[in-house]
Amino acid sequence: MTVTAGPVLSITDLQTRFATEQETVRAVDGVSLELGPQETLGIVGESGSGKSVTARSILGLVEEPGRVHPDSTVRYHDPAFVQQIAREYTDRVRWATADTADQRSADDSFVTITAGSNTGDSITVERGAVDLAGAPDSVVRSARGGEIAMVFQDALSSLNPVYTVGNQLTELLGTHQGLSGTAATEAAAELLESVGIPDPKRRLSEYPHQFSGGMRQRAVIALALACDPTVLLCDEPTTALDVTIQSQILDLFDRLQRERDLSIVFITHDMGVIAQVADTVAVMYAGEVVERAPVDRLFDQPKHPYTRGLLRSIPGLTGDVDRLPTIEGSVPTPTEPPTDCRYAPRCPKAFAECEAIHPEHVAVGASDEDQTETEAGTGTAAGAVDHTHTAACLLYPASEPVDQRVEQHVGADSSGGTNDSLEDDQ
Ligand code: SF4
Repeated sequence: MTVTAGPVLSITDLQTRFATEQETVRAVDGVSLELGPQETLGIVGESGSGKSVTARSILGLVEEPGRVHPDSTVRYHDPAFVQQIAREYTDRVRWATADTADQRSADDSFVTITAGSNTGDSITVERGAVDLAGAPDSVVRSARGGEIAMVFQDALSSLNPVYTVGNQLTELLGTHQGLSGTAATEAAAELLESVGIPDPKRRLSEYPHQFSGGMRQRAVIALALACDPTVLLCDEPTTALDVTIQSQILDLFDRLQRERDLSIVFITHDMGVIAQVADTVAVMYAGEVVERAPVDRLFDQPKHPYTRGLLRSIPGLTGDVDRLPTIEGSVPTPTEPPTDCRYAPRCPKAFAECEAIHPEHVAVGASDEDQTETEAGTGTAAGAVDHTHTAACLLYPASEPVDQRVEQHVGADSSGGTNDSLEDDQ
């Protein structure tokens, strides 16, 4: 198990649901993840697995009828941001652990800020972190861009076609950094240069359609960096690019991460990209994370049958294979609370219990002897990022007989089988 310093972002039991008159789709269902400083967390899975909704939920960008369930937490750990929020909401701050300014610090304080008499929302600030999932929109907007920024897949639709790239950059710099005139223009040119766009001053006066696909993606990255964020959420940023440009953009992310101390969440369906960019990986299936591991470990010793299926379907450079293995079937639309393993209809290893028990994450080692605790009891030092290799599958811990390991999942299952819905929370 590798442990680094405390997380920048910690997501616990994230649930995002889309309620219609006919059904409620649990697009993200109980996702828990941590992102460390200067770390790249790769999220991988097929289309419809909930990767993009996870990223949008972090920044409050889920569109109606989607809603993040109130039980979800998205903690952004940044003492400076805690102090900023406390200053902005000074009339409404209630410090729970210390009454006077000299008694308290951002690291150990617990703050409740009532957002407004008409909403009843509150901001919870705990151990130097703000919970963005429960915070009012004004707080999430404060975090958006300057703390956590997003790079979308489609660069053309991320840029406004009727404004020059320079207009769009200087407007952002004016809004978020108070720059105007020559200072804003020079900062915009520096941003374009930092993302590898040649002749940046001339390029500022050009429109998005005058940029090539790779240049447009670089311009979108420059926009995301304009407010100097700590965390970058990248949603399939290279999917629309050919492999040569893709490789250049991945190198760019690597350089920017080192230069700017960025923490990155990188979403893709491409295992090859994951191998190149990620430090740790979360594999998603049908709204759930089914396996988490450091990247080398995931590729060397994949445990979950779905991860193994994904890796088998990667074309190799050698070998005489007529047809690559595929995973039969497609990702289901999760409309019901999980009372079983959602992968069971496609899983070659499925057995009877898989259709009756929702598997929980358990630590999985080379032979499971070195890591046998459940997710809740990994013994990680307080505040550290947990990089234990875990899988949500009834095959594990493999060292135990089938009845005992199934029993362990039943005992750990605290979410499956509930019938709660967003309507209940309204
Ligand atoms: S719990 Fe059963 S069906 Fe699900 S991945 Fe594991 S073996 Fe396959």
